[in-house]
Order: sequence, then structure tokens, then C-alpha cells
Amino acid sequence: DVVIEFESVTKRYRDGTTAVQDLSLTIPSDKITVIVGPSGCGKTTTLRMINRMLEPTSGSISWDGAPLKSKRKTQLRRQMGYVIQSGGLFPHRTVIENIQTVPTLIGWDKTKNRNRAYELLEMVGLERKLAQRYPSQLSGGQQQRVGVARALAADPIVMLMDEPFSAVDPVVRADLHEQFLQLQKKIGKTIVMITHDIDEAIKLGDQIAIMRKGGVLAQVGSPQQLLEE
Ligand code: ADP
Ligand code: ADP
Repeated sequence: DVVIEFESVTKRYRDGTTAVQDLSLTIPSDKITVIVGPSGCGKTTTLRMINRMLEPTSGSISWDGAPLKSKRKTQLRRQMGYVIQSGGLFPHRTVIENIQTVPTLIGWDKTKNRNRAYELLEMVGLERKLAQRYPSQLSGGQQQRVGVARALAADPIVMLMDEPFSAVDPVVRADLHEQFLQLQKKIGKTIVMITHDIDEAIKLGDQIAIMRKGGVLAQVGSPQQLLEE
């Protein structure tokens, strides 16, 4: 049940920088795959090629056996939730409005959207009374959780997470890690997360892909394999 497959993918930016070179990577479904490596090694570039925010220069990426290129970008963006550091929330929308962003755009039923948004708020461990607050009235950890709820609201098949926990302090981060693992037990999504924190990768990853500078993928394996070798 391989879901996303990179084959010899290279990404060169217009200025000539090769961010990713000859990368092959298999992302299984319904598991957390963590891509870990130092700053600048090509993690963000790799993540952004999965929802076609960026196109590979060469090589191919497939999803469920079909080339990503054959899929419409708007469709992909809905099927793939995207979470960034501290949530990336819209500052002028309340928590509940933030969560309903995509369902509202799609034009799903308003009452259902609202009920689902409150359900998601609870799923990510936030109290109902926070619903009418603005992002600036939340702690970093709370903003991050709203970001996860917003990404889940569109019912994505895949969740792409760009250093989602790096902006919160270590104590809050440990809590978020636990809650995130609990949440994943319930939802069982295909998750691709990038981080520069090896401890985080070991704690959260069912699969770990290690990148090193120059964009070469060194290894893919489970945390257990990693610790034994
Ligand atoms: P990471 O997420 O691991 O920090 P990135 O994928 O952001 O790595 O970057 C990989 C390499 O590509 C770095 O050398 C970075 O400077 C370069 N890079 C990233 N974005 C661009 C861009 N838009 N144009 C040119 N070079 C870029
Ligand atoms: P957490 O440990 O969940 O990250 P904090 O310790 O930062 O939260 O905040 C504690 C409480 O204070 C939370 O209930 C949060 O809603 C509230 N809070 C934090 N910042 C603000 C703010 N700028 N305006 C209103 N309430 C806030």
C-alpha cells in the first residue's frame, strides 16, 4: 500500500541551485513518514513537490500509481492538507472561521461545516470557548492546533506538515507530540512531516527518511531500525 513514490527526482531552482538531487522515496499510506535532515538539505522543496506547489526538474512522482502531473492542482490541494509552523492562520479570521476556510470555499453545507469545525476543535484538544478568538489571542501551541484542525477540515487524504512543532517551546511541544500521536490513532491519515529535529523524527515517525546536504536521501527506515544500526 505504497501511496506516494518519488523516482530519481531532481529539483533545480531558476538560479541554478540544486535543492534535491536524484531522490527516491516511498511514502506508505496511513502512516507518519518523517523526513529529517539539517537546514537547507531540501526538505521543504521535497514536501512542496508532493502537492505540486513545486514541479520536479526531472524524475517522476506518482500517487497511487498515477503520475502526480496528471492531477489537477486545485484538486490536489484539497486532497492534501498543509500545515506550517505555528499554524499559519489568517489573522483577521476567528478560530472557527479559520477552521472552516476550505469547506466554505468549496461551498459545503454551512451548518455541517460549523458542526464539523467544533468537532475538529475538540479533536485537537481545544476548548469551545476559544472558537471566537483571533489567532493573536492564542498561545503558540493553540495556534498550531488550530492549523491542524483547519487542514483536517477539508477531509484530506494526505497531510503535509512543514516543521509543524518547531515554533513552540519544548514543554508545549512534548504535549503536542503526545496529542498528535493520539489524534493519528483516531484518524489514521497518510502524513508526511519534515523536521530538522532527529528526536522528534524518532518519536513521531513510523517511517524515517534521512536527508543530508546536497539533497541526497541517505536512508529510509523505521525508528527501531535506525536505533539498532
Ligand atoms: P530545507 O527545507 O531542508 O531547509 P529547502 O528545500 O528549503 O531546504 O532548500 C534546499 C536548498 O535550495 C537550499 O540551498 C536553499 O537555499 C535552496 N532554495 C530553496 N528555495 C529556493 C528558491 N526559491 N530559489 C533558489 N534556491 C532555493
Ligand atoms: P499553552 O500552554 O496552551 O500554550 P499559554 O500558557 O501560552 O498556553 O496560555 C495560557 C492561557 O492563556 C490559554 O488558555 C490561552 O488561551 C490564554 N492566552 C494566551 N495568550 C493570550 C492572549 N494574547 N490573549 C488572550 N488569552 C491568551
